[in-house]
Amino acid sequence: MAIYPYKTEPIFDYSLPENQKKYQEALLKEREKFGKQIPLIINGKRVKTDNLLTSVNPANHREIIGEVHQAGISEAETAMEAALETFKTWSKVPSQVRADILFKAAAIYRRRRFELNALETLEAGKPWVEADADVAEGIDFLEYYGRQILELEKIDERIISRRNLERNEYRYIPLGVGAIITPWNFPLAILTGMTCAAIVSGNTVLLKPSSNTSVIAYRFLEIMEEAGLPAGVINLIPGKGSEIGDYIVNHPKTRFISFTGSKAVGVEIYEKAAKVQKGQIWLKRVIAEMGGKDAILVDEGIDTEFVASEIVKSAFGFSGQKCSACSRAIIHEKVYDEVLEKIVLKTNSLTLGDPSNPDNFMGPVIDQKAFDRISNYLQIGMEEGRLVAGGLVDSKTGYFISPTVFADVPQDAKIMQEEIFGPVLAITKVKSFEEGLGVANNSEYGLTGSVISNNRFHLERAREDFQVGNLYLNRKCTGAIVGYQPFGGFNMSGTDSKAGGPDYLILHMQGKSISESF
Ligand code: NAD
Repeated sequence: MAIYPYKTEPIFDYSLPENQKKYQEALLKEREKFGKQIPLIINGKRVKTDNLLTSVNPANHREIIGEVHQAGISEAETAMEAALETFKTWSKVPSQVRADILFKAAAIYRRRRFELNALETLEAGKPWVEADADVAEGIDFLEYYGRQILELEKIDERIISRRNLERNEYRYIPLGVGAIITPWNFPLAILTGMTCAAIVSGNTVLLKPSSNTSVIAYRFLEIMEEAGLPAGVINLIPGKGSEIGDYIVNHPKTRFISFTGSKAVGVEIYEKAAKVQKGQIWLKRVIAEMGGKDAILVDEGIDTEFVASEIVKSAFGFSGQKCSACSRAIIHEKVYDEVLEKIVLKTNSLTLGDPSNPDNFMGPVIDQKAFDRISNYLQIGMEEGRLVAGGLVDSKTGYFISPTVFADVPQDAKIMQEEIFGPVLAITKVKSFEEGLGVANNSEYGLTGSVISNNRFHLERAREDFQVGNLYLNRKCTGAIVGYQPFGGFNMSGTDSKAGGPDYLILHMQGKSISESF
């Protein structure tokens, strides 16, 4: 059967009045749904509990997106039983059928694109373009992993048999029940990618979304159901990370854990998963994608206007709340003053406000906790560097922090070392490209990084020695595309699992070698 080749989903052009109108209408429709109760989904059944958590609009925390029922241990256990039972049948469903459910879901995402975009704007605080990019990436994951599972079937062709003696086969088979623990910052894309990679590989899952974006998670599962996914394959159990997240990580029947989130939680999960529990008959596999402290290294002799624009886009897109966001700019002394001046000008021209208004480039940060953490880093930054832009905070209506730049920051400063995960950029000056590469690598993280240089030998040096999972040359350090730039970091940025790449699905499977004698 011929399937057209994978191609990334284009994003919408918001200069077109018809697209603006559709987005505005979708925002209104989503607002009409505000405040509804959102149940768990276990074995296809809607389940309510006595524990409700409010999901709010980060741009206006008086607006309640939904009241989300929270799973406790007993719901998590019921979900595990459902997933174990469903695994018996789902794991035998041909990959073509599993892939078709993903392709159908992609079609539904396309049809409901504006609705999903609007919900992202309201629940995650994503400006229009960022929300649209997140939904488009969700479509990409569905289309890409659907094709990848069909590719993996061909693995058998690479194994040879000895004529008249034996027939050898090699298959990838699913692992079992997975715990999928997702972050809020790409609330549809990452959740879709992590969950659908696991299920298209034949596993069943317990999906624990971030509390900040559980309404989006519910909408996702509704779409998967509409696409024909049988009950019990994905069991949605929103709840407290430290309670039910912990429970499903430790559970002896959990076969693998797919986690995306902070370094602190990732390390904790990795440690806990290593402990073999009573009754457990395997070593749990952990796929962990964690934080970043991503740098853009700027050489001498470059176009300072271009550099400043790439840095500002990378640092402040979605308020710096991307694991790939540029939080360190390392600039050659010969161009330092000029680039800095342009960064400050561009930063000061960014518009900050409610992201449902398309005139605002930047929206709020996600919640009170993030607001407090980032505000604290602003204080630290005042001591460690020179404030040259931003530094203002306001949480009266929403969690707003202005795009902030600190210059002349020493390379070992806290704001050069710790992940802030907000709109804060630290800039440091270096004497040479060589020194700059050393500063760039002076981090426990290794997620993304970029080098802007016209020196061919410097670019080659970075190819070899810049220790990041995603290296970009002469461009910004955000915006990896599924199937084009497989994504995942080194060192404390995770297990380098390369989401959206050709090796990703295999992490959710095991190889079985079968040899029959004749
Ligand atoms: P987080 O670590 O706070 O939470 C992630 C998930 O883990 C949530 O669902 C949370 O409820 C759950 N959790 C919390 N404590 C837990 C525990 N003890 N046991 C099990 N689960 C637990 O991260 P976040 O704030 O949602 O996301 C932001 C972080 O994610 C940043 O550090 C960012 O860099 C990182 N991130 C990384 C990537 C990547 O691909 N490397 C992508 C997106 C985000």
